[in-house]
Amino acid sequence: MRASRVAATLGARVAIAEPGRFGGTCVNVGCIPKKLFSYAAHFRDELKDAADFGWSVAEPTFDWRKLVANKDREIDRLNGIYERVLVNAGVTIFRDRAVVLDSHSVSLGGKTFSAKHILVATGSWPQKPDIPGADLAITSNEAFSLDKLPKRALVVGGGYIAVEFASIFNGLGVKTTLAYRGSQLLHGFDAELGTRLGEEMGRKGVSVLLKKNPSKIEKGLKVTFEDGSTDQFDLVMFATGRIPNTANLGLETAGVKLAADGAIAVDNYSKSSVDSIHAIGDVTNRLNLTPVATSEGMALAKTLFGGKPTPVDHDNVPTAVFANPNLGTVGLSEARARERFGKVDIYKTAFRSLKHTMGASEEKIFMKLVVDAASQRVVGAHMLGPDAGEVIQGIAIAVKLGATKAQFDATIGIHPTAAEEFVTMREKSA
Ligand code: NDP
Repeated sequence: MRASRVAATLGARVAIAEPGRFGGTCVNVGCIPKKLFSYAAHFRDELKDAADFGWSVAEPTFDWRKLVANKDREIDRLNGIYERVLVNAGVTIFRDRAVVLDSHSVSLGGKTFSAKHILVATGSWPQKPDIPGADLAITSNEAFSLDKLPKRALVVGGGYIAVEFASIFNGLGVKTTLAYRGSQLLHGFDAELGTRLGEEMGRKGVSVLLKKNPSKIEKGLKVTFEDGSTDQFDLVMFATGRIPNTANLGLETAGVKLAADGAIAVDNYSKSSVDSIHAIGDVTNRLNLTPVATSEGMALAKTLFGGKPTPVDHDNVPTAVFANPNLGTVGLSEARARERFGKVDIYKTAFRSLKHTMGASEEKIFMKLVVDAASQRVVGAHMLGPDAGEVIQGIAIAVKLGATKAQFDATIGIHPTAAEEFVTMREKSA
């Protein structure tokens, strides 16, 4: 979408091939509906907290079908906007699947078209582990339009989608189990975030089982785990990673080199092994986040049609995980920073938010700054707590600009907020 629109605005003649809905995974079965569901799930806590502030709230009930219908209406609206944006930019739309024939031609709706440049932005698809009965389980693709909510759900995985959906199901009243094969959620993130998130999710009612992985699923959704234990569920969802959508696109015939994981191998300018074929987003399996893909698309349009070769920049990309509680992060984890810089200073704090001092909630906000000891630059900022993504987005600007700890300290906090802790942490914890 972004590459087409910007390229057209820069004067290119652009056509786009899309047999499905506009907006890709993010708009249709990803970020957007997920965040709407996440809001829905968070209301459970809000309704509970309201009582501590004097509200009498009748026993709340939840209508899953209403949530799905309202979500569908919003996604339809977004699909329409996306299509109009393309049409208004002068992009020609083909409602068909394209197959690459060679370096400059594609087959589309039975015809052959030629193009100076071909861009592949076909995204990725959820993968399931190869165990007996895996076909009885769903993935995030189906989770967005279930007919009804299950009573008991098992979510398998310990990454973004697993913790987000386990939090969603739990918040909506489903008895939820999360089974992860590793010993700490959110592999690759700062270790304390994963540990603390697991504890918080547990406190909120998710049964978080570490070093636990299913080996078999039988009809009726009886699940056997690798340790021999069994349990019964009404829904099993795999959130065990995604694979690049490169199959049956004609890429190999056109000479496009794929990496071992099936992703299109590209250089810093998103160029594949064939000069006229480029690729962006999840299909390249670099940093699989929507804003990264759109920025790759923008950089490519500038490179090809703006007269300004623009490499992609994957440094200090902030990201958020919309579990309950939310989690936001930018820069390096403590472990990565130690590998890169040797000596690092760590500042961290864990506290109950002002909002929760009035009630029974045990939820703790956690914040951590990782500072390169030699340069005193803040090289990592991490937060677990309400609206962590909103907070970290602002902090990310400072980290991207190379701000030092002293510059964080010189910034006046906004009182009373949770975010002010990022500029008031003075005691090194390591
Ligand atoms: P992730 O790669 O984040 O996590 C996959 C999880 O599944 C890991 O915990 C992994 O374990 C586990 N796993 C992988 N293979 C198996 C297997 N065979 N058996 C058991 N467990 C397995 O993938 P997700 O599916 O959660 O999400 C895909 C990507 O989509 C994310 O990486 C992210 O880039 C993007 N995304 C971003 C979001 C956001 O920005 N908020 C939200 C959702 C998705 P291990 O750690 O041991 O490898």
